[in-house]
Amino acid sequence: MTTINSVEFVKSKIRDILDFPVKGIVFKDITTVLRDKEGYREIIKFLTEKFQDKNIDYIAGIESRGFIFGAALAYELGAGFVPLRKPGKLPGETLSQEYQLEYGTDTLQIHKDAIEAGKRVVIVDDLLATGGTAGAACNLIRQTGAEVVAAAFVIELQDLNGRAKMPENVETVSMIVY
Ligand code: AMP
Repeated sequence: MTTINSVEFVKSKIRDILDFPVKGIVFKDITTVLRDKEGYREIIKFLTEKFQDKNIDYIAGIESRGFIFGAALAYELGAGFVPLRKPGKLPGETLSQEYQLEYGTDTLQIHKDAIEAGKRVVIVDDLLATGGTAGAACNLIRQTGAEVVAAAFVIELQDLNGRAKMPENVETVSMIVY
């Protein structure tokens, strides 16, 4: 069982890096949790408990830190793992979804044949900030005809209100809220 203690333990292992990648951003560095064998396990345990009874077919991990948590979660759930990647990385035919950044746009891609229509999918990333990335991931999965059951994060920055950007009927799950 995930307890308040395990949430606090993981939180204590997250490192703040000021002014990275640009001035004014407080970067939540999760490498300091990953290198801790208990910290990493507690995160995967938390996510597994949330979804083990939900008949999840696929975990879609967002490049690149979403792969680290998403792959381990897929393994634990006995689900498939599907990478959502930056443009130009996937070798097969792809679907694309563009999204807005503070300055300019970015794009996520998925293999066209990665997920069958009607399948139940959970999106995973390390952190929910404004919700632009995860919102685009939801729209991308929906292009395949699959159902996005939930979007799961290790960290949520509540002030940026990313939850509000998630489409209706998508549960938002986060382990640690700042
Ligand atoms: P957003 O699209 O604004 O929700 O941003 C989420 C994406 O940007 C995630 O893939 C995060 O890894 C990354 N990100 C945004 N803000 C931070 C932050 N303060 N610390 C670490 N990663 C961040």
